[in-house]
Amino acid sequence: MSMTKDARPVNDAELKQAVEQHLIYTLGKDARHASVYDWRMALSYAIRDRIVGPWFHATRRTYEGQRKRVYYLSMEFLIGRMLEDAMINLGLLEASESVAKSLGFDLRQIIEDEPDAALGNGGLGRLAACFLESLSSLGCPAHGYGIRYEHGLFRQRFEGGQQVETPEDWLTQAHPWEFARPESAYEIGFKGEAVNGDWHPSESVIASAYDMPVIGWQGRWANTLRMWSAKPTTLFDLERFNSGDYAAAAEPEALARTLSRVLYPDDTTYQGKELRLKQEFFLTSAALQDILRRYLSEYDDLTKLPQKVAIQMNDTHPAIAGPELIRLLTDKHGLEWGVAQDIARATLGYTNHTLLPEALERWSTWLMGNILPRHMQIIERIDDDHRRATKRPAHVGIVRNNEVQMGELAFIMSHKVNGVSALHSDLVKKTVFHDLNELHPGRIINQTNGVTPRRWLKLANPPLAGLISDTIGDGWIGDLDQLKALEPHANDKAFRKDFRAAKRTNKVALSNWVGETMGVQINPNAMFDVQIKRIHEYKRQHLNIFETIALWHNMRENPDAGWAPRVKVFGGKSAPGYAVAKEIIHLINDVAQVINNDPVTGDMLKVIYPPNYNVSMAERLIPAADLSEQISTAGKEASGTGNMKFTMNGALTIGTLDGANVEIREHVGAENFFLFGLTADEVIKRRRNVRHARDAIEASQNMQHVLQLIVEGRFSPTDPDRYHGLVDRAWNHDHYLVAADFEGYYTAQRAADKLYLDPEAWSEQAVLNVARSGFFSSDRTIRGYMADIWGTESALDGEEDAA
Ligand SMILES: *Cc1c(COP(=O)(O)O)cnc(C)c1O
Repeated sequence: MSMTKDARPVNDAELKQAVEQHLIYTLGKDARHASVYDWRMALSYAIRDRIVGPWFHATRRTYEGQRKRVYYLSMEFLIGRMLEDAMINLGLLEASESVAKSLGFDLRQIIEDEPDAALGNGGLGRLAACFLESLSSLGCPAHGYGIRYEHGLFRQRFEGGQQVETPEDWLTQAHPWEFARPESAYEIGFKGEAVNGDWHPSESVIASAYDMPVIGWQGRWANTLRMWSAKPTTLFDLERFNSGDYAAAAEPEALARTLSRVLYPDDTTYQGKELRLKQEFFLTSAALQDILRRYLSEYDDLTKLPQKVAIQMNDTHPAIAGPELIRLLTDKHGLEWGVAQDIARATLGYTNHTLLPEALERWSTWLMGNILPRHMQIIERIDDDHRRATKRPAHVGIVRNNEVQMGELAFIMSHKVNGVSALHSDLVKKTVFHDLNELHPGRIINQTNGVTPRRWLKLANPPLAGLISDTIGDGWIGDLDQLKALEPHANDKAFRKDFRAAKRTNKVALSNWVGETMGVQINPNAMFDVQIKRIHEYKRQHLNIFETIALWHNMRENPDAGWAPRVKVFGGKSAPGYAVAKEIIHLINDVAQVINNDPVTGDMLKVIYPPNYNVSMAERLIPAADLSEQISTAGKEASGTGNMKFTMNGALTIGTLDGANVEIREHVGAENFFLFGLTADEVIKRRRNVRHARDAIEASQNMQHVLQLIVEGRFSPTDPDRYHGLVDRAWNHDHYLVAADFEGYYTAQRAADKLYLDPEAWSEQAVLNVARSGFFSSDRTIRGYMADIWGTESALDGEEDAA
């Protein structure tokens, strides 16, 4: 076990004693009556104690070295469970196993008892969580800033095949990973009037900090995720209470509680809601006040801020950071306007995550002026300065059509703007920021996303991780490029056999879980074909379920045509108000009902859709996948990160040339990837033909059968008209080109069938996918941000030599 000098190594006996002590003195429980929950808390506190050493050490090193710090501002952190991740990064998993044995609890059960911290919707929030872990693993001094939502992403159930949302309540239990910091509190104002830089808010709340340490690989460094919770400035109005107006007396508390109560459950459409704007300002202002306070505790010259501070905006959600930083520097600290603007720009960076027009944030100038009157003035002045300085064309600007365009604001206030895959960054330059790119050449750069191999390979897939370490050593965990050393083993028969055995272990485990939780028996010898991600038309789960229907139909027509047995696995939530996505969910569940009960296809085809997809479910499904579905309409998925997790875990991808699929295919080799579909350029051209869907359907027997079966009510016999709208859209409003891509997809699936029936050939390609997935580590991504955007270095370099 390797540990820094400040992290006390522990042996099993010490850890056991720590767990017992916490059980007694923190939980107040006698071991004889301890529940799973009690043991989990006791173990979590014992593990947490081991993080504190490296955490303090990292803070001291950062102060002593006068290091530049990175601040990652994000409205979402989709963290998942923390206990196992912490045990793994501290090297305490085996010790915990032996402690569990000797104290008589089941470690697996304890781990699975922890609720997911689901403070995010999907990819964007999960990326933020992977980045935090990599920042710590790389020893980059950093803080994450987020909101401590009382309720994270809703829980999903199916009733009659339809999505039903229920509130999520992760904070109803004690949260052992956080430390309340009531002394770190800032006032956040809203509304009121702003006259000559003098803003008098008429409402305010207190942002109160909760800190979660984030431990890096091998426990060498720990950063902080600081989450803000809203508290009332005055608990309640005693005068009003005494005069009998109880509701009004509680108003300040009500405002505060609403602010950090719920996560907005939609990641692809923008809603101009006052509460959302308030949440964004709440996070941003609290973070910036905290950052300036910390800076001024060490330095006194605010003009040097960019030398010691880098602030990254995860999408435009915290884009009010530009105006807010200028406000704090000018109104509060007396700097000149121009100086403040330069400091802000040199400090800020902005990551663009989407080109979908419906997702680009913009606020009416009326709402912005009402909620943040001082910021509205600052935004107009930034815009005026930019117009004068660049002589830009008239259609370019932050304030357009009486709306504040948050993308333009973030762009203009940042020294670097990055996209999240090579294709996406290229499209950012050509589309949303075409004009700004010409005015500011070089500002847009690319940083292809990545995922942390600690969680997504070592933690999620012990059989494969063990095999890799036995074969090439365990250096890959901290340096994923070392997976390259597996390449020669791809044509080693014995290794491939072990590789298939590891995959099979995961598939059997998943089959058992599906049997227990859903009552459906699936065959672990079948190809596990998995599409898990938010449900959205551009991600095209409907293309997948259409192909499933065509496959079922053709299997029944021609049972002996050499089909590979398949289990189609779906997972994902729809935004509560997204009717079309909800209809797709309903259809998948209806199709599953019919297919899973068809004795003709039997074991040859099953459709599984476990409810409530989240990080923990991803950890269960991805290691068991043979085929990864990455089938978005080209040009729509900015990067994807699910695609990377699958590649790392030895699934082959069937996918379009979209987002990071392009780079995955380049890395693993075109011959080890099932490609289909129009390219981003072809998509745009094809859409100009108003008959694109009709033409494609008329040319495809398969599509005709599929739409016919759906429209005649084959999957909804008690409600045969249920999908008439959906079928009508397939013919007439197929914006995401499902029909145009259908035959190519179907053909690629049959190539996958063929390869799957040759296990040696399949596993050779799967091994090559793993061996060539090193590029997709978020460690590589973070190194890129450090070098190209933040100008920071690891504080761990040279530490080992010094120790
Ligand atoms: C990785 C991940 C995502 C992102 O998946 P994509 O396929 O890239 O959209 C979403 N949700 C969860 C729970 C994840 O783990």
